[in-house]
Amino acid sequence: MAEIVVLGAGVVGLGTAMLLAKDGHDVTVLERDATPPASTPDEAWERWARRGVNQFRLPHYFLARYRAVVDAELPEVAGSIEQVGGLRHNPLLEIPEELRGPERPDDADCEVLTGRRPVIELAVAAAAERARGVTVRRGMPVSGLLAGPSSRAGTPHVVGVRTESGEEVRADLVVDLTGRRSPTPRWLEELGTKPPVEELEDSGFMYFGRHYRSEDGTLPFALGGGIQHFGTISSLTLPADNGTWGVGIVTSAKDKALLGLRDLGKWEAVFGALPTVAHWMDGTPIDDKITSMSKIEDRIRTFHVDGSPIVTGLVPVGDAWACSNPSLGRGASLGMLHGLLLCDLLRDVGLDDPLQFAAAFATSTDDQLRPWFDWTRSTDRHRVAQVDAGVAGERYEPDDDDFEFEQALASASSKDPDLLRIFIRGALVLERPRDALSRLDLIDRVSEVGGAWRDEPMAAPDRDELVRLASA
Ligand SMILES: Cc1cc2nc3c(=O)[nH]c(=O)nc-3n(C[C@H](O)[C@H](O)[C@H](O)COP(=O)(O)OP(=O)(O)OC[C@H]3O[C@@H](n4cnc5c(N)ncnc54)[C@H](O)[C@@H]3O)c2cc1C
Repeated sequence: MAEIVVLGAGVVGLGTAMLLAKDGHDVTVLERDATPPASTPDEAWERWARRGVNQFRLPHYFLARYRAVVDAELPEVAGSIEQVGGLRHNPLLEIPEELRGPERPDDADCEVLTGRRPVIELAVAAAAERARGVTVRRGMPVSGLLAGPSSRAGTPHVVGVRTESGEEVRADLVVDLTGRRSPTPRWLEELGTKPPVEELEDSGFMYFGRHYRSEDGTLPFALGGGIQHFGTISSLTLPADNGTWGVGIVTSAKDKALLGLRDLGKWEAVFGALPTVAHWMDGTPIDDKITSMSKIEDRIRTFHVDGSPIVTGLVPVGDAWACSNPSLGRGASLGMLHGLLLCDLLRDVGLDDPLQFAAAFATSTDDQLRPWFDWTRSTDRHRVAQVDAGVAGERYEPDDDDFEFEQALASASSKDPDLLRIFIRGALVLERPRDALSRLDLIDRVSEVGGAWRDEPMAAPDRDELVRLASA
């Protein structure tokens, strides 16, 4: 079994460390932030500072695929999340039966286990502290890679890392789980590798979030999905732990007229004008300000260039490999799938031939995870272009089958119980809709049922009203 160093104790970093340790590996997690995890949900919410995770206090929703991985592979993590008040609920079964039809056996797959980000991270950290084979060292910022003998001339082989304090930590494999802002390209340059191939663009979205709590532990009733589009803005309404929930407004970062949403009063005025979600403000606010975030990148990176690895002994997992529009909430689910893929390859291919392992990791990542990233990025590009067109007072009419298909499926999902399930299972990272539709031979039904999506009325303030509310 291998000695493995995981860089980053984020929610996927710790989850992957635990998966690896279950397979018998000896895992050390090095985390930059020194602050130890809080001990209660309230303390996590009020006092746990996580400078390394910018999105720490923004609304999160952990999807069914994340729940499925922890239930099956890390039941102690699922138990720990439940112990701190994490919410198990099934968004499909909460839809009235008139719309979704009678319950079906595999509807249970859609159950999620979720909570506010600090609370989920507290629960995962508590499980990691107890996990045999995992050592978490906080306050250990990594500053570079250590190279050892290469198995092929010109391809550096990583044998560990150096921390800012100068300590060297050696390993058979280094797993980069340092998140969206992973510094590995700089470290690889210092090592003298070819540059990794990166596709990078600003997703163009801006987030404005706030959390609420109910007095009696109940949650607002959902009149639609967790993300709903209202012309040039989208709403997020995300159930969480202990009777709390997150509420967000997503805009285009180019939409300067809505920058006023950082102001609490303007944010409340705009959110309160969104008819199907305004009641999600009926609770006690537990944030005293609006948390905002922009410069959210869609970025994918590979260390496999021109058909072969540029480095061995180092793999990027989770957001360090690829990150995309967070409003779809796929990061933790895809990250845990990536962690499972890493475990499978260590079992099936092993580390005896580092080149073979690095190539197999890149190929499997491309085959199994890249399709999810491509789908998400395509959705992002269309949505942000649609918003930017709306801001300019234009209709968005791209000549693109994928856009037409996505809109039609979203519309059809409210009219057809089979398509509803396919839509929701896609949103929950259980199966991509195109795969499900081909498997069930239902692809034509999407345009038959949802093809008239352009004619549907949108109950939302018009653009002028929105701008007035955001600037009044
Ligand atoms: C606004 C927003 C909302 C989101 N909402 C959702 C959601 O609802 N559902 C969902 O599933 N996903 C969501 N995501 C994505 C999700 O947060 C990420 O996919 C997830 O955090 C990735 O986990 P990770 O462990 O790979 O990285 P991170 O959680 O980013 O953790 C990286 C860790 O690495 C550490 N680190 C960084 N550099 C170093 C270094 N040099 N040395 C040592 N440690 C280092 C950091 O301190 C940090 O602890 C959202 C993202 C954003 C931006």
